[in-house]
Amino acid sequence: MEKFEKETAVSDFVSNFVDVSKFYGLCKSCPNCGNVWSCPPYGFEPLEIWNKFSKLRMIVYKIEPLSGCEENLALLEKTKHEMLLYTYALEKKNPGSTALSAGKCSLCSECSRPKNEPCRMPDKMRYSIESLGGDVEKALRELFGIEILWEVDGKTPEYYTLCGGLLLKN
Ligand code: SF4
Repeated sequence: MEKFEKETAVSDFVSNFVDVSKFYGLCKSCPNCGNVWSCPPYGFEPLEIWNKFSKLRMIVYKIEPLSGCEENLALLEKTKHEMLLYTYALEKKNPGSTALSAGKCSLCSECSRPKNEPCRMPDKMRYSIESLGGDVEKALRELFGIEILWEVDGKTPEYYTLCGGLLLKN
């Protein structure tokens, strides 16, 4: 696995890569929309979160696939959790910062949101860049020179990518 990190001003990131209404439109076709507390719709404006911070540290893992589909799903979940633990540690080192998850929260096997019950771990749940309207595909291409590859006709891509981050006050 290769790791990449890059810091950018939140104001630049928001002007170049954030489009809340466009990405909320795309989120609506995802089954997690409205069913996981880390995903939209929210009771707040995503821009309110971006505007509380001055810097974004993007963290990208480029992962070599294994041979089978189930093995790859397990590998991605495990690596996503490792990234979350890494970003929790960064939060501790950077008071006032908040981590951004690589994709939806998957801390519970089933989210409590469909039952209309509160999040079970609000202190551990983190939003993702894309759930707050960020264009991760464009940002990876322009800031890291990395293309996100997708499975085509069930064919495993050359590599997988996970992208999380850390929002910092200064
Ligand atoms: S911690 Fe559990 S209840 Fe909260 S958003 Fe994540 S999966 Fe849902």
